[in-house]
Amino acid sequence: MNFHQLKHEEVESQLQTSVQRGLTEEEVVKRRKHSGFNELQEAKLPSAWLVFFQQFNDFMVFVLVAATVISAIMGEYIDSIAILAIIFINGVLGFLQERKAEKSLQALKELSAPQALVLRNNEWRKIPSKDIVPGDILKFSAGDRIGADVRLLEAVNLEIEESSMTGESVPVEKHASPMKGEAVALADLKNMAFMGTLITRGNGIGVVTAVGMKTAMGNIATMLQQAGKTETPLQRRLEQLGKYLIVAALLLTMLVVILGVWQGHELYTMLLAGVSLAVAAIPEGLPAIVTVALSLGVQRMIKQKAIVRKLSAVETLGCTTIICSDKTGTMTQNQMTVTDVWSGGKHWLVSGKGYEPQGKFFEDQREVQPSSEKSLYQLLTFGLLCNHAEIKEKEKEYVVQGDPTEGALVTAALKAGLHRENLFAQFVIEEEIPFDSTRKMMTVVVKDTKGQRFAVTKGAPDVLMRHSHYILWDEQKQLFTKDYRDQTEAMMASLASRALRMIAIAYKPLSSLNNKGKTVEDGLTLIGLQGMIDPPRKEVKQAIAECKQAGIKTVMITGDHAQTAAAIAYDLGIAKDASKILDGQALSQMTDVELANAAEKTTVYARVSPEDKLKIVKALQKNGHLVAMTGDGVNDAPAIKAADIGISMGITGTDVAKEASSLVLADDHFATIKAAVEEGRSIYENIRKFIRYLLASNVGEILVMLFAMILALPLPLVPIQILWVNLVTDGLPALALGLDRPEENVMKRPPRHPKEGVFARGLGWKIISRGFLIGAVTLIAFMITLKEHPDHLAYAQTVAFATLVTAQLIHVFDCRSEYSILARNPFGNVHLIAAVLSSFLLMVAVIYVPSLQPIFHTVPLEMRAWLLVVGMSAIPTFLLAGSFFARKSR
Ligand code: ATP
Repeated sequence: MNFHQLKHEEVESQLQTSVQRGLTEEEVVKRRKHSGFNELQEAKLPSAWLVFFQQFNDFMVFVLVAATVISAIMGEYIDSIAILAIIFINGVLGFLQERKAEKSLQALKELSAPQALVLRNNEWRKIPSKDIVPGDILKFSAGDRIGADVRLLEAVNLEIEESSMTGESVPVEKHASPMKGEAVALADLKNMAFMGTLITRGNGIGVVTAVGMKTAMGNIATMLQQAGKTETPLQRRLEQLGKYLIVAALLLTMLVVILGVWQGHELYTMLLAGVSLAVAAIPEGLPAIVTVALSLGVQRMIKQKAIVRKLSAVETLGCTTIICSDKTGTMTQNQMTVTDVWSGGKHWLVSGKGYEPQGKFFEDQREVQPSSEKSLYQLLTFGLLCNHAEIKEKEKEYVVQGDPTEGALVTAALKAGLHRENLFAQFVIEEEIPFDSTRKMMTVVVKDTKGQRFAVTKGAPDVLMRHSHYILWDEQKQLFTKDYRDQTEAMMASLASRALRMIAIAYKPLSSLNNKGKTVEDGLTLIGLQGMIDPPRKEVKQAIAECKQAGIKTVMITGDHAQTAAAIAYDLGIAKDASKILDGQALSQMTDVELANAAEKTTVYARVSPEDKLKIVKALQKNGHLVAMTGDGVNDAPAIKAADIGISMGITGTDVAKEASSLVLADDHFATIKAAVEEGRSIYENIRKFIRYLLASNVGEILVMLFAMILALPLPLVPIQILWVNLVTDGLPALALGLDRPEENVMKRPPRHPKEGVFARGLGWKIISRGFLIGAVTLIAFMITLKEHPDHLAYAQTVAFATLVTAQLIHVFDCRSEYSILARNPFGNVHLIAAVLSSFLLMVAVIYVPSLQPIFHTVPLEMRAWLLVVGMSAIPTFLLAGSFFARKSR
C-alpha cells in the first residue's frame, strides 16, 4: 500500500480509523489477532534444559567426574554414586539460582520497555509500544522514538534522525502532505516516519501503517537485540580472583596429597581427599551467588521505583560522591499554580489550588474582574494561545496533560473564563517555533479574524527581556528603557525570592506576510510576567540530609532563574548563601580549569542549558568525583551518558534520555535516587558478607587437612564430607546473606572508593584469621575425640565434620556485620535463620539417618561429643566478640 500518496481522508478510510477518536478497544483486540504484537523478533532465550546442562559445563564438575571414575575403578561404588548425587544436587541449585536471576532481569527489561502516546476511545493514553496496532493514532515529540511505521497527519517543525534505517545521521525534515510517485526510496518518504527512528525536533501526529516485523525496521533486521550477557566490574574481578584461587588451591591440594602419602595414607584416599579439597578451595559458586544477589537487589530497587538498566550501575551507585539533580519535577512536585501576574506597574494576586480552574484575581486586596483589566486579560489570553497543555478532570481531580508550566497558564486563563475553543474561533495559529531548554522560549504566529498577524512569545523573563524593544506600561506601549528594565528586574527578583517560577509573555505585530522564522522573536513588546509556585516534594529535604550524612553532595542543576532556584535550594538545605550559586552565563565564560575549581564549592547551577550539564559532569569527574546525573530531554543524553550513573525520568523523560541512562526513576523523584544509592551500598555490603563467609569456610577446610597432614594425624574429614559441606550446606546461608538488610550505618559512612578491592577494609584479614580459627577448632575437636576413642576414627571424624559445619553456621551470623555479631540482632534476617536451620538439619540427617551413614562415613554422636562440638564451634565468635568489646571500651 502506498500510504505516502494518499490524502489524509483516504489514509483514514484505508486503515478504517478516525483521527479524531482513534480506535476502540474492541477494534484493537480484533486487529491484534491479525497483526500480532508490535515486536521485532528477538534471539530466543536459552531453553531451561540448556541452562540446566550448562551447570555441568564447569571445571569443578570435570574434576569431580574424574574423581567418580577413580572411585568406580577402585570399586568404591558408594563413593562414586554419592559424588554423582552431590554433583546433581549442586547442579539443580545452580539452575534454580540462574533461572531466578534471569526471570528478574527479564521483568526488568519489560519495565523499561518503550511506551507510546496513542489515541484510543477518544482519549490520549500512554501504552507499551508493543500494544500498538495498525490504524492507531500516535502522537510524538522531540526525544521520542517512533513506536511503529506511521503516515504523518501533522508535523510541526518535525525532524527525525533515521540513521538506524538509512545510515544518514543528519535529521530529515518531515511534512504531512501527500507525495507523488509510486516507488519512493525509504530515505525520501518525507511524510512517513519509521519504527525505531528518533525525533530530534518538533512534534507530530501519525496513523500507524505497519507494526512488528511488517515495519521497515522488521524488514531489514530479522534478528535484533541479541540478549548478550554483560558482567559487572565486580563479577569480572571475582572471576579473576577465582582463577588465582584455583592455582593456589591446586598447589595446596598437591601439598596435602604429597604429605598424606608420605605419612602413609592410601593413595586412593589421598587422591579423593585432594579432589575434594580442590573443590572446597575453589569458590566456584561465588559468581552465581553474586549474580543472584545483584538481581534480587535490582528487584528490591524496582519496589522503590528505581529501575536499573545496567547491572553494573548497582555497584557504581554505592560509590556515588555527587548527585546532580534537576529541580523541576525531581525536587519539586511539578504541580504549578500561577499566584502572581504582573504587567508594567500593576501586580495581581491569583487565588486557587493546583490545577483547579477556580480562583479570583486581586489587586491591593481588592477583587478585580480580569476582563476589565486590559493588560491582565491580554497576558492570560496570550498565555493560553502559545500553549499546548490541557486541563482535564479525572476522578474529581484536575490534572494537566502536557507541560505543567503551560498547564498553570491554562488554569490561570480558565479562572478568568478564557477557553481555548473560544479563542480558536478568533485566532488561527499559522506557525510555531517550539520551546526547548536551550532557547528557553516558544513562539506562535497568529492571525486574527481581521487578517492581522502577530507573534506571541513566552519564555524565561531574562531571555525575553533581551529580545524586547518595547514594554507595555500602564497599558501603553513604551520604549523599554533602562528605568523600565530596572523596575522589571526588581519585580522579577521579588517574585524569584519567593521561589516562584516565572514566565514572561511578549508579542509583536507582523505587518507583512514574509515575516517568518526566528526574526519574529526580535523587537518584541513585553506584556508582563506570570509567577507560579511549584512546592518542593515532601521527602526531598530529608533525603538530601541523609545523602550529606553519607558523604554525598547534592547539587541542583536547573534551567530556572537563579533566584528562584536559590530560594528552593535554601529551603531544601542544598545551599546556604549566594556564593554556592553559579549562573549559566558565568559558566559559559569559564575555562575547563576554572569550572573544575568553581565546581568544588557550587551547589546550585541556574539558567543552564542541557549542553552545560556535560561540562559540569566532566569538571566534577576531573576533580575525582563519581557523578550521578539526572536528565529528561534529548539534549541531556550526552551528560547522562558521560556521568558515572546516568539517571533518567520515568514519567517525563524522553526515550533518548532513558536509553542513555543506567537508572530510570519510575516516579521522577529525588528521594528515589537516595533509595537507589542506599540499595547499591547494601547490595555491595551483602556481597562482601557472603564472600567473607564462603572464603573463610574454604580456608578453614583446607587448613584442617593441611595441619592434620603436617602433624601426621589420620584424615580428620572424609572426602565425601568435604564435598557435602561445600556444595550443599554452605550455599543456602550464603544466599541468605545476599538478602540481608543493610547495617544501620550504611548511609552514615563515606562512599566506597570505586577502585577499592574486594578484600579492602580488613576483609582479607577477617577471612584468613577466621578460616584459621575454624580450621584450628575443628582439628582440636578431632584430636580430643581421637584421644578419647583411639580406636574409633569414624567417631572422631564425625565430630570434626559436625564442628566444621557448626562453626561455619555460627560464623555466618558474624558475617552480617562489619564489626561484630553483637552489633546487630542475630535474629534479624529470617532467611538466614531458615537457611542455617536447614543446613544444620541436613548435617544432623547425615549423622543420624542410618542409610546415609555408610555413604558419609558417619556415626551417631553422644551428648558429650555434641557439647564439645558446640563449645569448640563457638570459640571463634567469642574471641571476636571479646575483641570488639575490648576495642569499644577503650
Ligand atoms: P529543570 O532543569 O530543573 O527541570 P526547568 O524545567 O526549570 O529546570 P527548563 O524547562 O529549561 O528548565 O525551563 C527554563 C525556563 O524556561 C523556565 O524557568 C521558564 O521561564 C521557561 N519555560 C519553561 N517551560 C516553558 C514553556 N513551555 N514555554 C516557554 N517558556 C518556558
